[in-house]
Amino acid sequence: MSRIGFIGLGIMGAPMAAHLVAAGHDVTGYDVVRKGLDALVAAGGTEASGVAEAVADAEVVVTMLPQDEHVEDVFFGAAGILENAKPGTLYIDFSTIRPETSVRVAEAGAERGLRVLDAPVSGGEKGAVDAVLSIMVGGSEADFAAAAPVLRAVGRTVERVGGSGAGQYVKAANQLIVGGTFALVAEAIVLMEAAGVDAKAGIDVIAGGLAASRVLDLKRDSMLAREFAPGFRIDLHHKDMGIATAAARTAGVSLPMTGMVAQLVAAARAQGHGSLDHSALLKVVEDLSGR
Ligand code: NAD
Repeated sequence: MSRIGFIGLGIMGAPMAAHLVAAGHDVTGYDVVRKGLDALVAAGGTEASGVAEAVADAEVVVTMLPQDEHVEDVFFGAAGILENAKPGTLYIDFSTIRPETSVRVAEAGAERGLRVLDAPVSGGEKGAVDAVLSIMVGGSEADFAAAAPVLRAVGRTVERVGGSGAGQYVKAANQLIVGGTFALVAEAIVLMEAAGVDAKAGIDVIAGGLAASRVLDLKRDSMLAREFAPGFRIDLHHKDMGIATAAARTAGVSLPMTGMVAQLVAAARAQGHGSLDHSALLKVVEDLSGR
């Protein structure tokens, strides 16, 4: 059992923090929004008045924040983690951010005696609620081993994939597959509906064959019903496609499909769908066909 400071109690962070409480950890959390704090207290955790208070007494600090600037602010900012966490503290960042930012955080943390892991996750809100996330971890073997009780309390498939920043590269790879799958499921739905076939029966039979996927399992009914409450917001997937395309440039590779999917996600955002679930790519694909 550890004293854990948990920053960022949103769609993913709130259920993850609740699982850490249920696993016997003493969780003190902070979010700028009231809803997350209420969820933590209801789960048996303690609310803090700010980042400094949440991390000052912690053995493990966890963040689950939207994007790079939030992690930079919470880590480097005045009254942040770097200034207030004790040397020796294990810091696990579950957020999806650029690999370069994770490396910068890890290097600055190491100078102050913090042990830092980038540990982005996949599995969506349902994966967080069911504590079955896939977690891709960058950092040292020793820190990864030390983090096991925390990672295992929220995840099912947990792998160390390399040094600092490596987890973010794997998450970028994950996001281009998820985005591409949504784009093609959307195209399949548009085709079946336009052709006048039974799209519900069609997608069900597709889900039983080689095109089966978690995306189809979890999202086909809501997509057919045009229900797009998040889940995972288009804004965040747009951020992730930016990370993936920048990572491709850094790695010196050409990813043409990723470029196309990134443009579809950008279109969804430009059309005002940024706060809808990423399955709302269907709206863009429909627009392209005038439907
Ligand atoms: P979210 O917006 O629901 O939650 C983020 C939380 O961070 C919010 O409650 C927000 O108020 C809080 N926050 C922002 N700035 C803060 C600050 N300075 N101090 C304290 N709290 C602050 O986002 P989410 O969907 O939970 O996603 C979080 C991260 O997980 C993102 O990087 C996202 O890409 C990644 N992710 C999300 C999903 C998903 O399905 N939602 C799946 C896998 C990974």
